[in-house]
Amino acid sequence: MTTVRTRSRVHVLALGGTIAMTSPGEGHGVRPALNARSLIDGVPGLADVAEVGFDAVRPVPGAHLRLGDIQAVAARAGELLADGADGVVVVQGTDTLEETAFALDLLCASDRPVVVTGAMRNPGMPGADGPANLLAAVRVAASEAAAGVGTVVVMNDEIHAARFARKGHTTRPSAFGGAGVGPIGWIAEDRVRVPLRPARRVRLVPHGGAEPPPVALVTVALGDDGRVLARLAGLGYAGVVLAAFGAGHVPDALVDEAARLTESMPVVLTSRTGAGEGLRATYAFPGSETDLLSRGLIGGGALDPYKARVLLSLALAAGWDRRRIADAIERLSA
Ligand code: ASP
Repeated sequence: MTTVRTRSRVHVLALGGTIAMTSPGEGHGVRPALNARSLIDGVPGLADVAEVGFDAVRPVPGAHLRLGDIQAVAARAGELLADGADGVVVVQGTDTLEETAFALDLLCASDRPVVVTGAMRNPGMPGADGPANLLAAVRVAASEAAAGVGTVVVMNDEIHAARFARKGHTTRPSAFGGAGVGPIGWIAEDRVRVPLRPARRVRLVPHGGAEPPPVALVTVALGDDGRVLARLAGLGYAGVVLAAFGAGHVPDALVDEAARLTESMPVVLTSRTGAGEGLRATYAFPGSETDLLSRGLIGGGALDPYKARVLLSLALAAGWDRRRIADAIERLSA
């Protein structure tokens, strides 16, 4: 006799964030307090959607997370999915969610959904969005519709592909968007809709230590004279991401320093604008994209600076060379 499983099994990995933050009393700010069990118990109707298990991973603000934590979460998600879970939900602070979700997208090999969610309003606020986001995330994790699209971010009843998700507002429940792309799906009542699917995925397997190699992120600003870039070489970084102006431009004072850095580490050229793909062959002034690419910088394609930094760090942990990193960026941009 075969056993027919009628209910989906979804596992929640809880990492803290506003969704789990309460205040010890009037006049005090909020901090991580709710455990995974109370988060789950606080969502009416959740048990009707799926059989929900949980791990309390680490009750921290999003700002305290590191890539090494996310490597551990990816490994645990892999175990759970290999063990027959239908999907995994990662609950965490929204401050770093766009970076961690992209890291999970690169690290998780399963086609079953890995869904990242959180809240913009803490449980003590009117209109707290945590319970609705967690319910929607569990629905997505249990669904067939979200299988095979990679890690997604579920907030405000929208589904965003992790590699395009951006937090674009400090406080609104609608803070998350897909930079220049928009959501790939949505949740309406109990229906999970995913009409758009990212064309290609990149997966990597880091090896070595618990924390991947450090990558510096340098945002270029008006009149930057290059003194920060000039000091980077001796600080122990394994790579650099430049968040440049527009389509990939820097002040001419930075060009020699950026080129020098490429002799010792990969330097990825991205845009600080927040959306769009870097150019390759349009401008030709000193510090333009053609100048910088000809001096050995790697074009960041359609990756924003934060995503490029995550990719570069994990790719270095996986032992990838510059060619392979550039190929992955091209694949993720297409
Ligand atoms: N504002 C953040 C959040 O929405 C705080 C954090 O990232 O922990 O969760």
